[in-house]
Amino acid sequence: MDNKLLTLRGVTVTPVNVPMKRPLVTSVQTIVSAPMLLIDVQTQEGVTGHAYVFCYLQRLAVAVKAACDEIAEAVTGERLAPRHLAAQLKRHFRLVGATGVVNTALAGFDMACWDAMARATGSPLVELLGGRRRPIRAYNSCGLGMSAPETLAAEALELLEGGFKAVKIRLGRADLEADLRAVRTVRRVLPADVVLMADYNQALGRAEALQRCRALDDEGLYWIEEPIRHDDYPGCAALAASVATPIQIGENFVGPQAMALALAANACDYCMPDVERIGGVTGWMDAAALAAVSGTPMSSHLMPEISAHLLAASASCHWLEYVDWADAILQEPLQVVDGHVQMPDRPGSGIDWDAKAVRRLRIE
Ligand SMILES: [Mg+2]
Repeated sequence: MDNKLLTLRGVTVTPVNVPMKRPLVTSVQTIVSAPMLLIDVQTQEGVTGHAYVFCYLQRLAVAVKAACDEIAEAVTGERLAPRHLAAQLKRHFRLVGATGVVNTALAGFDMACWDAMARATGSPLVELLGGRRRPIRAYNSCGLGMSAPETLAAEALELLEGGFKAVKIRLGRADLEADLRAVRTVRRVLPADVVLMADYNQALGRAEALQRCRALDDEGLYWIEEPIRHDDYPGCAALAASVATPIQIGENFVGPQAMALALAANACDYCMPDVERIGGVTGWMDAAALAAVSGTPMSSHLMPEISAHLLAASASCHWLEYVDWADAILQEPLQVVDGHVQMPDRPGSGIDWDAKAVRRLRIE
């Protein structure tokens, strides 16, 4: 195998807005389309690495693009060595701070660099990271928002298509009774061997969370996610200590340092970093080491294509969060068989753009 070193030639980015098959209603926002930035890292050797990031709000794609342009100018001509470049870019952005849109751009750039390296070695990303290709069990997160109770039951059953054995419901309705009604409506129609997770998207205060989570303890939920503000680690720790259902947090960890603090504070039973917030592949692997040594089961958040590779290379791999939001712009969308995502047998993270779809969905 030709293990060639790469030199960065440039970075191009393309903002797109991808309509979602099923809008997602959370306790904070209704999402009907996914504004994304497609990042291509070109090398002097002719290999191009691909990655995408979610921008959440369409206008912010321009801001992430500006941060990517800044990255490109800072490191073009450098050897493509993501861990080295991450340190160099952290210095470059020290005064503005590597958070927010800068953090998003850095993570996207890092993911595209790793994709290029895997392509250059001719192996799937998971193998470059020391893992092996294998199916990863996934829960279907494409629905069960804060929809009306009448539609919840039908939606829950639809989400089992593809053999999924796990789905996630969003909570944070007007009161505890409404949350209980929603959970029971869904649980009643799901087969007994199907797992149900619940996500509050930080909707509650500490006292309200204690009351609702304790009441939910009898409902058989697999985990309760982000019941309170994501960075209130003492509050999360108090909940985790007094609620029987495992508490899940992590999609808002900015960098592995945040996860280290959360784990040290016993803020959660399970963790689920987001590759776009935790620092790309480089940050994820640091976080995976923390999860492994602390024995914390680790799941992923969004971006299932690259997350499958990362989970397969993580010792405490738990569940993959499956969403189909990028399918429309990918040549070969991720396949799900028996509720497990199948890692493609091709070099890189498996992301290649459907050029026609990208032209159609491009925004500027
Ligand atoms: Mg969540």
